[in-house]
Amino acid sequence: MATRRISSLISRSFSSSSAAALLLQGRNSRSIRRFGTAVAAEEPITPPVKVEHTQLLINGQFVDSASGKTFPTLDPRTGEVIAHVAEGDSEDINRAVSAARKAFDEGPWPKMTAYERSRILLRFADLIEKHNDEIAALETWDNGKPFEQAAEVEVPMLARLIRYYAGWADKIHGLTVPADGPYHVQTLHEPIGVAGQIIPWNFPLLMYAWKIGPALACGNAIVLKTAEQTPLSALYVSKLLYEAGLPAGVLNVVSGFGPIAGAALASHMDVDKLAFTGSTATGKIVLELSSKSNLKPVTLELGGKSPFIICEDADVDQAVELAHFALFFNQGQCCCAGSRTFVHERVYDEFVEKAKARALKRVVGDPFKKGVEQGPQIDLEQFEKIMKFIKSGIESGATLESGGERLGSKGYYIQPTVFSDVKDGMAIATEEIFGPVQSILKFNDLDEVIRRANATRYGLAAGVFTKSLDNTNTLTRALKAGTVWVNCFDIFDAAIPFGGYKMSGQGREKGIYSLQNYLQVKAVVTPLKNPAWL
Ligand code: ADP
Repeated sequence: MATRRISSLISRSFSSSSAAALLLQGRNSRSIRRFGTAVAAEEPITPPVKVEHTQLLINGQFVDSASGKTFPTLDPRTGEVIAHVAEGDSEDINRAVSAARKAFDEGPWPKMTAYERSRILLRFADLIEKHNDEIAALETWDNGKPFEQAAEVEVPMLARLIRYYAGWADKIHGLTVPADGPYHVQTLHEPIGVAGQIIPWNFPLLMYAWKIGPALACGNAIVLKTAEQTPLSALYVSKLLYEAGLPAGVLNVVSGFGPIAGAALASHMDVDKLAFTGSTATGKIVLELSSKSNLKPVTLELGGKSPFIICEDADVDQAVELAHFALFFNQGQCCCAGSRTFVHERVYDEFVEKAKARALKRVVGDPFKKGVEQGPQIDLEQFEKIMKFIKSGIESGATLESGGERLGSKGYYIQPTVFSDVKDGMAIATEEIFGPVQSILKFNDLDEVIRRANATRYGLAAGVFTKSLDNTNTLTRALKAGTVWVNCFDIFDAAIPFGGYKMSGQGREKGIYSLQNYLQVKAVVTPLKNPAWL
């Protein structure tokens, strides 16, 4: 199971007939409702899991919120309540930060050997694997993503990320530094202290792992605020982390709303570092909250409007499939989605026709149903925002090739939508839609497409599809983006750094680069008493 990571899943998608590849290619036609059918007319499938944890997780214990308040978390398939979850506010954030502070200042976690810390993380990964399908079912229920994607890609990836960081725990150390003079100089790499972490709803478990993995490997304590749309999976897996032996208070999980619990965490004077993933607008707010409080360093992973550039030499069928995946994966709810599909004029007409045919084949339906590629959008707010963008695309003169409407009458399903003849200034080409809406733009020259691809305030990712080494070398150097995928997309190995240029963020997550977010570097200088032995 663990080996079925997203990278292999995608790289196999052109050649393999495995179930995972079929999931992406949508060729599994048995017992599938086709695009355009009224998905919500059928009764939703009963999720194969019970909700066990709805309280806040503070100091290793599940507790009610201080106010006693709860909020409903909703099933995106129906808009109905799954469970009522404790609603954390500033008092709960205070309680969680105190617990984390105590765990860091007085508890065993930062003092235990790095090997012991790594063994706890390894046991956690084993428990994740053991409960793979329950975790995946909870994620699908709360988020609406296809169960096969959650069970075969995301939960195994969660375990993989935790093992990756377990591997780092005992390899973090400082340097011996040569000095101009009779001094012994060394650097100590110390944990920062209490990390505040705020995560979004589109990949609740992966964002959880990207945040807690490096923080724990470096020996920090954490207060994590989940997204109000998807509080359930983090509570479930965090209980497993305690079962694996995490000392009390090292990870505290607070469910609640952004402007209340999130803002309290971002502005807390006793939080030493903040990591945030979400919209650029909220990223600006949390940065300001940090600067108005204690200047805690902030890592930001924000929005994107990533170009996906298909050169004239591309195999059109493969380009269509990859561009489709780059945009529609996870209901289009990816910050790095290839949401500006630039196609060379020589292959443009063929590409548009085939992109439309591919979207019409996309399997939309109850995410618990086998073979479904696309579930509902996360909530009514996102659904309405996406529908407005579709309307604006039509009104601004783009050609609606397919989709454009709600699917069914219940829940937040949207038809896979393709626009051609998109112009650079249209809102569908400049704004982050975060939904299943592909915008296809025509280009005829490499310099022109570089200029247009970079003409955005975002710089999270880019895709390039070409057989030419010269095109590859030119584009990979010219594109202003934190990741450039060439002839592939959305490859998210644990070791590959991820983050944005420009207003797509600050800092990098995953890989070796993520560790520096959670470490202080202390220089230690001692005189050498016998310079003869310098
Ligand atoms: P989206 O628009 O995709 O929901 P947000 O940036 O609003 O993205 O949300 C991402 C995360 O940021 C969520 O956990 C949310 O609760 C949190 N959040 C939203 N507003 C604030 C805020 N004012 N301060 C801190 N966190 C916030």
